[in-house]
Amino acid sequence: MIKRKTIVAQVTHPGKSSVGILRVSGVNAKKIAILILNKIPKPRVATYSKFFNKNNEILDQGIALWFPSPFSFTGEDVLELQGHGSPVIIDLLITTILSVKNIRLARPGEFCERAFLNGKIDLIQAEAIDDLINSENESMIKASLNSLQGNFSYYIKNLLKTLIEFRVYIESSIDFSEEEIDFNYNDIIFIKFKKLNNYFLKIKNLIKNESVIRESKKIIIIGPPNAGKSSLLNILSSRNKAIVTNIPGTTRDLLHEYININGILCEFIDTAGFHNTTNTIEKIGIDLAWKEIKKCDHILFVIDKTIDLKHQKKISDNFLKKISSYNKNNIEITFILNKNDLSPDNFKIKKIGKFFFISISALTGEGIDILKKHLINIEKNKNKEGTFIARRRHLYQIDLSYHEFLKAQKNWIKNKNIELLAESLNIMNKIIGEITGSFSSNDLLNRIFSTFCIGK
Ligand code: GDP
Repeated sequence: MIKRKTIVAQVTHPGKSSVGILRVSGVNAKKIAILILNKIPKPRVATYSKFFNKNNEILDQGIALWFPSPFSFTGEDVLELQGHGSPVIIDLLITTILSVKNIRLARPGEFCERAFLNGKIDLIQAEAIDDLINSENESMIKASLNSLQGNFSYYIKNLLKTLIEFRVYIESSIDFSEEEIDFNYNDIIFIKFKKLNNYFLKIKNLIKNESVIRESKKIIIIGPPNAGKSSLLNILSSRNKAIVTNIPGTTRDLLHEYININGILCEFIDTAGFHNTTNTIEKIGIDLAWKEIKKCDHILFVIDKTIDLKHQKKISDNFLKKISSYNKNNIEITFILNKNDLSPDNFKIKKIGKFFFISISALTGEGIDILKKHLINIEKNKNKEGTFIARRRHLYQIDLSYHEFLKAQKNWIKNKNIELLAESLNIMNKIIGEITGSFSSNDLLNRIFSTFCIGK
């Protein structure tokens, strides 16, 4: 284990409270125990003790907990002092602790970072701790706990195991000449491709159906110009953020609006529309929309009901054809039939094939409650027992590695080039390894842990 500087931080919320807890982690924690308590407490036993300063004057009294390395949260020697929650006492204790050489204040998330670096938890579990603290509802708590207990890590580790088996087979075949290679070599490679593909699909399916995404839901509003996309965003947010005009193509940039629907934070994105145009600025807006679609959880495709049915069908068929090449994440799609005030019909919501159709009027507000309920239901249906928490970072890495996998499979069928296949498998290994942290740059770690709170 690398010896890092000993760190200290208050782990309870700063300010007055009945109890204030300090945590010290590192090689000098023993020295701190002797300085503050005049003894090293029995490991993992709550020890009532006086807390002293450098001059042996009593600062406070409370409970001390001693977790010798490696049996602690960080894997290092850890001392926890639970005293009275006075900011002055806490400050005096921290000043006393910092007077010892080679001790410094912990950075945000540094205890979790050390637990990760010392192999006590993987990155998914470290992130789950942060997610647990920041959970806003019961399903997020359950999902974070499941991830903390390793449910999500289990699937990723199995994917990695399958991939590594494949790599070992390929790497060990590279040095053999063609005559030395198994006659059913090609069949074995196809079996391995199939096994890996099945595992990827299993994880993608799990993510789709059983993960709770920590970040807000991304819902993109697209459709032809003048269908009422901006009006829909305005009525959902009860604000006039998007410019509503009857001039087609008014929304050229993407507009983002965060709206809380029954406790679920949704990021709605209004787009330039979905149509063929020769206007360069409009084209840029449409390209932006397509890029954003790839990162979304849900698409609301808005259609103007006042146009004839044949045309409506043509628009939706065109869209579905185009989206099928993009829809790698199985993004939810809901068709919004707008302007029901001008062309009323009785159905409020109906399912045709895989898709829901909801009749609304963005002008009068009719059907908006049904739409909100539909968005919530889709999320609720996902949040079953056994769910786990995922971050967009995880989904992105899975998609990226699956993309590399499909490329590798295609190249193999075409060229049968073993070096190329070995390189692709190596790239996939790195991408997936970044999810659990088995491959991670300092930059990635800094980015993750710096968002944690101090004392975690
Ligand atoms: P976008 O181009 O798809 O964003 O469409 P807008 O939201 O800018 O709306 C285009 C025009 O349709 C505007 O004149 C709106 O007032 C009108 N509009 C939007 N929704 C409705 C609706 O539900 N009923 C009626 N009657 N007009 C609407």
